[in-house]
Amino acid sequence: MTVPFLDLKAAYDELAERAEPAMLKALRSGWYILGPEVDDFEAAFARYCEADHAIGVANGLDALELALLALGIGSGDKVLVPSNTYIATWLAVSQCGAIPVPVEPNPETHNIDAAAVRSAPLEGVKAVIAVHLYGCPADVTSLAVAAKDAGIYLIEDGAQAHGAKWQGQRIGGHSDAVCWSFYPGKNLGALGDGGAVTTSNADVAERLRLLRNYGSSKRYSHEIRGRNSRLDPVQAAFLSVKLDRLDEWNARRCEIAQRYLAAFENTGLGLPKVPAEADPVWHLFVIRHPERDALAAKLADRGVQTLVHYPTPPHMQGAYRDLGYAEGDFLIAEQLARNILSLPIGPHLSLEQSEQVIEAVLTEI
Ligand SMILES: *Cc1c(COP(=O)(O)O)cnc(C)c1O
Repeated sequence: MTVPFLDLKAAYDELAERAEPAMLKALRSGWYILGPEVDDFEAAFARYCEADHAIGVANGLDALELALLALGIGSGDKVLVPSNTYIATWLAVSQCGAIPVPVEPNPETHNIDAAAVRSAPLEGVKAVIAVHLYGCPADVTSLAVAAKDAGIYLIEDGAQAHGAKWQGQRIGGHSDAVCWSFYPGKNLGALGDGGAVTTSNADVAERLRLLRNYGSSKRYSHEIRGRNSRLDPVQAAFLSVKLDRLDEWNARRCEIAQRYLAAFENTGLGLPKVPAEADPVWHLFVIRHPERDALAAKLADRGVQTLVHYPTPPHMQGAYRDLGYAEGDFLIAEQLARNILSLPIGPHLSLEQSEQVIEAVLTEI
């Protein structure tokens, strides 16, 4: 039996009975840009994130880029980013004309921390983007203090962390702008692209509403040079239904993660480390193994699909050749990229499937 890495069809099937009437209502409404479905989802998502505002946008990359623009970051500015994130975090910075400055993560949590911000070169730096990688929150409390001390903004990339908590508070309301992706594979995934920014800063929220909609709050009046990046109402209708189930589905992910952690304890396998203050949502379950590629091949032979998030750090991608980084410049990110392996996890992974994963891993390590 093959254990798929993630089963999106099963997720759809479980929601279909409630989601299809909601989407049909949106389709038959005669209203196809922003409007009541988007308003309702934004209100529900803001409440869920313990933030005052949520602004729906077209995707997670736009969420990050528009958040940077809303905070006034642009040409020539520098922004601290993790050296081991998905490239979108870097691209958002580049897209608005600023320069990404990599900082290394803590090798055990995979997240950047306050110490990394404090020891970074801060000349010209306007902001730091903390990524809650794999669904485990970074220490936003200490990061906020470090950012404040440095006189820079803290932005969060929550694309992998819908529903996660730090010190009992949901990710989404801690800083000036928390950026979300609703890419189908995320914990709160849509049926296509989507994204949002949550904030409790009314000025930032106002700017984001302009930026995503041609700089306009009134038809044919354009206060700033905005763009077209709006959350689609049919996706919003689906997301509202899915949001109601998010805690339950995240709880199923946590159950699988606990089973993996217990089974792999004391095996020598590198396991995710969860700080005491964090309630992670296990977007991914990432192990570390010195012979990662060989292990992945053996697991595949046993029907267990795995992936690597991510095999090449942004500083070694062709897209960033012009920044002049070389192999060896960010050793923690490079070492992680060689050793990490993501095991199947998701709300629709059955007990039997997780047992098959555990047995395969214990046999092959
Ligand atoms: C998915 C993801 C994004 C980008 O989201 P899109 O909706 O695909 O544009 C950004 N950052 C991280 C960490 C992600 O995982």
